Amino acid sequence: MKAGAVLLEVNANGIMKPKYFEQFSDDNIKKLLLSRGKFALLEDVLAKEKAELTDIENQTRDLDFDKPLNETQIKERLDIIAKDVNEFLGVRNVDIPKLEAFTIFDPSGKHILKSYLVGSCWISGAAVATGVLRKVRSYKGRGSKIARLLSRRAVLLGSIASLPGIFFLGKGAIIHKIFLNDAAYIAENQVISYSPRVRRIRMEMFLWHEYTHHLQHILGFHSQKKLSLLSATEGHARGVDEYMSRTYAIRHNNKAYRYNYLAGSVDELQSTYLWLGQKLGLNCRQNLLGDMNADVRVDLSHYGPGHALFSIYSHTQGEEIYRNILHGEFGLDLSSERE
Ligand SMILES: [Zn+2]
Repeated sequence: MKAGAVLLEVNANGIMKPKYFEQFSDDNIKKLLLSRGKFALLEDVLAKEKAELTDIENQTRDLDFDKPLNETQIKERLDIIAKDVNEFLGVRNVDIPKLEAFTIFDPSGKHILKSYLVGSCWISGAAVATGVLRKVRSYKGRGSKIARLLSRRAVLLGSIASLPGIFFLGKGAIIHKIFLNDAAYIAENQVISYSPRVRRIRMEMFLWHEYTHHLQHILGFHSQKKLSLLSATEGHARGVDEYMSRTYAIRHNNKAYRYNYLAGSVDELQSTYLWLGQKLGLNCRQNLLGDMNADVRVDLSHYGPGHALFSIYSHTQGEEIYRNILHGEFGLDLSSERE
């Protein structure tokens, strides 16, 4: 942050007018990204990050990600991280969000719970139906031929009927596994939900990312029913990830912070770069795409476009953009012609 910059008093008059954040819609972010000029700039950003990632991979044999932290240690880390993020984004007087170890019963795990429930109900239903069909056999001499045939095949039919249930259970288990290595900010009750099994460096990265979502939320920079700002809020949080990973890597002399950030970031920038190339009919440099196949259509996540656009702005205008965005001082140039 620049010396003498104004600090945003979150509890006093820091809440932005909702109109200001409307410019950051997912559609506008994509629209602004779709230009030849942005394609070239994204290429620069991606080349820089990919070179740094390759350097770390080549130079460092053992990156130190440390052990998982206990509850008290996580709380202490969050206090320090909140101070650092507040300073970077120029805010103060922010209540620290609560911390809760992840369970499938909290709102961030509700879709996992739903998958498990649907799967179990489906399988139970199929099992009951199998039992009913088998019963038909005992009514010897009664019922049609078809009913008797069905009853003989009851177990096979029941197994086929239970397949979707197995699919839902499997889907639940996969998302569950992902969540056990992840964190989330639950805006409804201002809680950071985390998995206690995550190692320290990764946990710290989660904490500054989710804390940024907390700041965004209390300042009014978040998706609403009819307006998704997901791309922009993720892009903004990724910008904080970038700054914090750099700062912490230097402060603690540990490149694992940078590695953690770059591994995720490069992946997102690569997909966005390929998507942009395909949309604009431009050839991407294969050395920047890594293992990605340039002929495959990209299924773009929400993270990519916002992360790419804000990385370009940060690259060309400086990292104050992340502070300015939150302070209501950043205007997307939506009237500009395509470069
Ligand atoms: Zn996020």
